Amino acid sequence: MDNCLFCKIARGEIPSSKVYEDETVFAFNDIDPQAPVHILIIPKEHIKSAAEINESNSAVVAHIFETAAKIAKDKGLDDGFRIVSNCGDSAGQSVKHLHFHLLSGRDFTWPPG
Ligand code: 5GP
Ligand code: ZN
Repeated sequence: MDNCLFCKIARGEIPSSKVYEDETVFAFNDIDPQAPVHILIIPKEHIKSAAEINESNSAVVAHIFETAAKIAKDKGLDDGFRIVSNCGDSAGQSVKHLHFHLLSGRDFTWPPG
């Protein structure tokens, strides 16, 4: 996707504070952190949202969760963390490229607002 912000970040065309990268996923610090640790984990492949996950592309989603666990271990997030994916307008998805927020370093309320 030529015009997608997160595709451009994954390709290195827009700078980001990279946390992790491999062949299929990219992780970087959120520009507007909502917690002491706020990392976005994305597939390099353009998938619009969680609503677009299907049999043909779900392997990368499993790999994103493996990556989240690895980052949490590397960063010592032993007190806990939260993973969130906002899907669609009512959930507040502002970037239409699938991404998972990895949040940690403070307490979180439940249910979310
Ligand atoms: P959403 O609101 O779609 O769930 O999450 C999008 C996230 O992307 C927001 O937390 C926002 O701060 C972050 N974001 C938007 N633009 C940029 C950017 O250019 N660089 C980085 N690192 N994060 C961004
Ligand atoms: Zn994209």
